Amino acid sequence: MARAALMLAGGVGLSLNTDGAFAKPAAPAATSAVVAAAARAASSAQGAPAALTPADRALDAQLGQFDRLGFNEPVQAIQGLRALLAEPDHASRRMHIEYTLGRVEADSGDMDEARRIAAQLETRPGGRALARLLLAEVQDRRGQPVKAGELAQLALDDLSPACPTGTSASLPPGCAWRPTYHALRLIARAQSALAQHAFAENTLRRSLALAQAAQDHYVSVQVMGQLALASQTRDEPAIAQQWLAQASQLAQGDVLAMERTRVYESMIASRRGDHKAQQLALEDALRLAQQAGARREMALLQNNLADSYMHSDQPAQAVKMARLALPVALAFDDHSMERTLRHNLSVALVLQRQFEPARREIARVVELAEGDNDQVRRSLQLRELGEAYAKVGQWRESLRLYHMERALSAETAQRNRESSLQQLRLKYDSEAKQRDLELLRRDQALKDQELGNRRLAQYVGIGLAALLGLSLILMGVMLARVRDANRKLKANQSLLRAQSERDPLTDLANRRHFLAVMDRHAKDMFTGALLMIDIDHFKHVNDRHGHAAGDAVIVEVSRRITQAVRQEDLVVRWGGEEFLVFARNVAPDQLQLLAERILFTLGEQPVQTPAGALQVTCSIGFAHFPLPPAQLALHWEQAVNWADMALYTAKSQGRNRARGIVTVAAGDAQTLIQIEADFDAACSSERVQLQTILGPVQPETA
Ligand code: GH3
Ligand code: MG
Ligand code: MG
Repeated sequence: MARAALMLAGGVGLSLNTDGAFAKPAAPAATSAVVAAAARAASSAQGAPAALTPADRALDAQLGQFDRLGFNEPVQAIQGLRALLAEPDHASRRMHIEYTLGRVEADSGDMDEARRIAAQLETRPGGRALARLLLAEVQDRRGQPVKAGELAQLALDDLSPACPTGTSASLPPGCAWRPTYHALRLIARAQSALAQHAFAENTLRRSLALAQAAQDHYVSVQVMGQLALASQTRDEPAIAQQWLAQASQLAQGDVLAMERTRVYESMIASRRGDHKAQQLALEDALRLAQQAGARREMALLQNNLADSYMHSDQPAQAVKMARLALPVALAFDDHSMERTLRHNLSVALVLQRQFEPARREIARVVELAEGDNDQVRRSLQLRELGEAYAKVGQWRESLRLYHMERALSAETAQRNRESSLQQLRLKYDSEAKQRDLELLRRDQALKDQELGNRRLAQYVGIGLAALLGLSLILMGVMLARVRDANRKLKANQSLLRAQSERDPLTDLANRRHFLAVMDRHAKDMFTGALLMIDIDHFKHVNDRHGHAAGDAVIVEVSRRITQAVRQEDLVVRWGGEEFLVFARNVAPDQLQLLAERILFTLGEQPVQTPAGALQVTCSIGFAHFPLPPAQLALHWEQAVNWADMALYTAKSQGRNRARGIVTVAAGDAQTLIQIEADFDAACSSERVQLQTILGPVQPETA
């Protein structure tokens, strides 16, 4: 019974603070000494080339400290940052200080000031990415993780070229790792919120690589905690424990980092349903937070402990914790935390039969919840209150709340059912049909079971009115079953989403997605252009530099192809190191320019990999459909085959080039099929005419 409520508290309280952290508060004099030292170091670096100078590193460390300090002691952090701004410094460094200031303002709840700083950054040359990132932080703190993720993605597109995307021993010059890390963090949060767990994990791994390259242990610990949570969500407790152990080891000696590790441990214990372990971890975390003097962090922990005590029949302890945390929530103007605290307080008060003060807290919770669309949270809170009233024999009030909760969750369940069925129908293709159908069947069975449970629970509700004493026990049993079915349903849905139509390594659409698009839009006749792209001698990369370097090349090549095409064009990871571009609206005479652009974006600059910079080229086969001059109708599979055959000729003519079909001397479908059967002969006899575009000249052959 406790689990759902604890997950709620985790979601509302602790997980919001995934980066809210601080250093041990330094005395003001010490702070200004640090500020002065960094400013001196900074001024000596002015005019230096854009490499990671010691001064840059000093400033980065300092901004990291202020970031940590800001969550618990925003006033002090803001003072320090403003002092730093008062020193003369060059523009790019000033922007990073301003951005950090904006983050702290947002942490302290002053969203207007954060927005004002974002607007100011927007006007600076090169300040757009940081401005967007700051606005993303504001959206995130306003409980809009998806919007925040979109803004962070835009910011990342501007920021990322300089930072490595895979594991890397050090940071290259010009990599603003801290903003890049924050962007990735917000994107991962958005992906989790959309239940795209596989993507979220990928993003988290990227941000971990960055924090490790920057040698920031504190940030690394946070990301490892997130990865542990992600593993637990995927039902892989052993891996979750490994991440936790790694985080715990890295956190040694840093009290706050140790505290964060314990917090993640408690969240994972909660997801496991291990109430005892969760409580112990929370108590330990509270002790560490106190040791570090982190008052807001303490309040968050007290909030979660209040919830935990409430569910382990210690209402007096719960009231005590909530009352300790409430003044801090009010001081930080943190409505979400205040709402959870007051809700917990009201339940604990009901359990202690203090109905009048409980009523006052409930009224305040209702006020705070005004305009909130989170029905799951509302119905969980109603349920908890109802259960508390039932426990102390207030049947009438319990029943009233129970019916309110039934109505609310029946509405939510109906909506979920409709939208998830719709998604499933769109999903399966022939190859995965079997598995999807099996999942669909199980999903359906679970939902039917859930609806059945609901109906049953309703009967129990009516029975309750007549047989109050006996039906309380029945109600408990039914609620547990409904919750169990809900939990299975959720796990099932996230599994389905994880198996979606994207390639996990590159984040491109996969072949399955392309088939689905063709199924919808090109059933009978294929129109538009196809470019089949294959990396040259890719096996050598793997053989000489290892699989990790190979992966890095594939990721970078995908990124460059995506950069070279228009947004409306579809880029597909067709196979290992093969990519297919489907450009629906490109004019035939523009197609060769597109092929040329891809050849050059790929081949002109070396690709950075863990094994060093590698020169990579590719070969391309392309064609525009229907094929000129006869404009014969083709099925899309045939069209892909034509692009593939053109690619084959590009390979055999020496690679690093694109070959496009210009004309085909075929007047009917039958002739076309004959040509396909012996393509080489058709090329030699010039029944098929091809054009060739050469790629950039390569260093070793120049
Ligand atoms: P060609 O120029 O003729 O295309 O030669 P190639 O070596 O690129 O082509 P080949 O098809 O012989 O080799 C492709 C290799 O790509 C074989 C396979 O092990 C490797 N590969 C496929 N997928 C991945 C992947 O996701 N990561 C890595 N690192 N390698 C992959
Ligand atoms: Mg290949
Ligand atoms: Mg190849």
